[in-house]
Amino acid sequence: MSDFKPLTGGCLCGAVRYTLTAAVRRVVNCHCTRCRRISGAAFQTVFLVHTGNFHLDRGADQLTSYGVSPQTQKNFCCICGSAIYNKLERLPKHVLLPIGSLDDPNAVAPEINIHCENMLPWVLDIMALMNFPRSAEEG
Ligand SMILES: [Zn+2]
Ligand SMILES: [Zn+2]
Repeated sequence: MSDFKPLTGGCLCGAVRYTLTAAVRRVVNCHCTRCRRISGAAFQTVFLVHTGNFHLDRGADQLTSYGVSPQTQKNFCCICGSAIYNKLERLPKHVLLPIGSLDDPNAVAPEINIHCENMLPWVLDIMALMNFPRSAEEG
């Protein structure tokens, strides 16, 4: 893809920064209980990128690893706690990143939902809720 523009991202505090030099693959909403617990959110939107196209620009020494399972390692900023990437044993040539870490999360969009058997039922009706442009107090 010659017209591909590198995507950049990082953690909340800015200590960790990365660049992706190829298009991302398999953008999914994961509704599994593990993603819910580790993100603190109803579900997690993540994507794959080949390890050769994932470049840590700074903050490699600020990353802390946690063994989510014997097959999955989460790497996050030790200062602000933001998730940066996961390594999955079954996908040794890829890393898994949360779209919220992208500077422009609108650059990618989920294609599928997975682990739907664990989806919280209200997720289906989210746009039926009252919607406010900012917080409810501001209107
Ligand atoms: Zn940070
Ligand atoms: Zn999951």
